[in-house]
Amino acid sequence: MARVLIVGAGLTGSLCAALLRRELPRPHLAHLEVWEKARGAGGRMATSRRGGASNADSTADLGAQYVTRGPDSARRHPSFYEDLLAHGILKPLTAVLEGMVVKEGAENFVTPQGTSSIVKHYLKESGADIFYDRQVTHIYLRDGKWEVCVNTGSSDQFDVVILTMPVPQILQLQGDIVNLINKSQRQQLESVSYSSRYALGLFYEAGTQIDVPWAAQYISNNPCIRFISIDNKKRNIESPDIGPSVVVHTSVSFGTEYLECDKEKVQQLILDHLKEIMPQLPVPASIKCQRWRYSQVTKAFPGNPGQITLHAKPFLVCGGDGFTHSNFDGCIDSATSIVEVLKSSL
Ligand code: FAD
Repeated sequence: MARVLIVGAGLTGSLCAALLRRELPRPHLAHLEVWEKARGAGGRMATSRRGGASNADSTADLGAQYVTRGPDSARRHPSFYEDLLAHGILKPLTAVLEGMVVKEGAENFVTPQGTSSIVKHYLKESGADIFYDRQVTHIYLRDGKWEVCVNTGSSDQFDVVILTMPVPQILQLQGDIVNLINKSQRQQLESVSYSSRYALGLFYEAGTQIDVPWAAQYISNNPCIRFISIDNKKRNIESPDIGPSVVVHTSVSFGTEYLECDKEKVQQLILDHLKEIMPQLPVPASIKCQRWRYSQVTKAFPGNPGQITLHAKPFLVCGGDGFTHSNFDGCIDSATSIVEVLKSSL
């Protein structure tokens, strides 16, 4: 009878929760909780929403843009794609994405409700109790259980803890976990690296026209901007009642150079560059600036193991795209390997 805690409500954490519910029925899985430091689910599959009466459904994908099923993923993970397609969470990408490199045999999918709808689908399936605004800070070993503490000062005990955040955030945790990570594991964890970039979400009033012949465009000749998407058009949800939204991703070199700068100043710099590329773009009603300190994995944990077990009894494991690679398949690989190793430990 295990009380299980998953830290992080991103794709890996939510998939782990759903797979644990499928594969570890009661009595093994007595209680499943997910703790997330942000106010909502998604992680780097974040969908930002602009509230307000006239724009209730104006949303923008600030992280992942689309899901690619390559020939290898079609062979290895068919059921994951079929499930999301059957639920209408994934739809084939039909819009024009200029400058996109289309790999042979690959298919691309968008999420009409935004990429966070994938994560929400798995969280719902898992039936887990989900708590937001809970940033795990310390993990202690007490009487054969994990005592997990959060920034608000409260704590709870679990038999199993699964960490799914980016590796540098795992290494920031304090408490007994610091001494449980052995020297070689620490060296390997420290070798994992990520790119950094900024994303802007621009939200417009319903009825605003953005007249460009494409739904998204990769930009190769601007020092700041790498990608622009008319996000509702990319997701094929053009409607007179919903304000359009535009997503801008910066290049990694720009993201790295301005990583520690004031977000408002960076936002203005990105808007200045955007004006050069799209001088006719209307003024948005609101803007969201997202700093992705850990955007995509540039060097994964050696050997791409999917997870590493930090402690066997009680069980403490860490996974996420840092242990595979940064896309949907990478997170499936990590979540399935976490669940396999947990099953074999019971
Ligand atoms: P995360 O999504 O980072 O989830 C970890 C969660 O843990 C987060 O929600 C975080 O808030 C939470 N957390 C961190 N620390 C704590 C703590 N101490 N306590 C509690 N919670 C904590 N992939 C694609 O497939 N296609 C794409 O087009 C694509 N484009 C991308 C573009 C950008 C700009 C970015 C940033 C990523 C992109 N990716 C893309 C990669 C993809 O988004 C990631 O690989 C994937 O979302 C990683 O999921 P994860 O669950 O492993 O990690």
